[in-house]
Amino acid sequence: MKLDFSKGLIPAIVVDDATGDVLMLAYMNEEAYEKTLETKETWFYSRSRGSLWHKGETSGNTQKVKSLQVDCDADTLLIRVDPEGPACHTGERTCFYTRLDEKGEAVEAEIPSNRRIFDMLEEEMESRKIKPVENSYTNYLFEKGIDKIAKKFIEEAGEVIIAAKNNSKSELIYETADLLFHTFVLLSNQNVKLSEVEAELQARSAKKGNSKGDRKKIEKW
Ligand code: AMP
Ligand code: ZN
Ligand code: ZN
Ligand code: ZN
Repeated sequence: MKLDFSKGLIPAIVVDDATGDVLMLAYMNEEAYEKTLETKETWFYSRSRGSLWHKGETSGNTQKVKSLQVDCDADTLLIRVDPEGPACHTGERTCFYTRLDEKGEAVEAEIPSNRRIFDMLEEEMESRKIKPVENSYTNYLFEKGIDKIAKKFIEEAGEVIIAAKNNSKSELIYETADLLFHTFVLLSNQNVKLSEVEAELQARSAKKGNSKGDRKKIEKW
């Protein structure tokens, strides 16, 4: 589609596709946009150097384009990427590592990643499978195999029901966390990715008529 370069350069917001973290903001001219489409890696126009810039050309930290979105009036891009390394030339994962307080003063603070706990759990399971940790309960389960994993899963499901019947919110939260943990152990044991389960859920909600078109119709009514 045609982007609106009539006001000059277009800002491109770069987001980590896996975590949703905003990584950087840079500008594109038409050539940078075309190059990005063509190579499926990010290209920008460097305002300081006054030239076309392939992100990672010197650092090696290129960004694989996963998807492109354009804003309402086609003058801003949102690019979801799979980064090869830090987005910032300082070596930080994201350029936005400085928090400002209410007065606008910079404060040193760890900016947590948006990375969701489920992604972290999944990654932990996979790393435990490759590199077992001593005295790890997860590794014990992996070693015992599917029968033990299944037994634990059922046991935790039962505990969730008991907590619900007890009308204990805190107990229910605790036991649901247990059940979800063991769901991840089970999925990992069966080599099923969370993203595959997510895709199934998304397909279902699309079927239910949750598409953008339908939502618009509903809003009009
Ligand atoms: P790179 O594209 O990562 O090889 O970096 C090449 C040069 O581009 C660096 O020396 C910086 O001048 C600049 N640069 C890289 N990443 C950024 C960024 N996220 N924001 C602004 N400038 C950058
Ligand atoms: Zn706009
Ligand atoms: Zn930076
Ligand atoms: Zn439990």
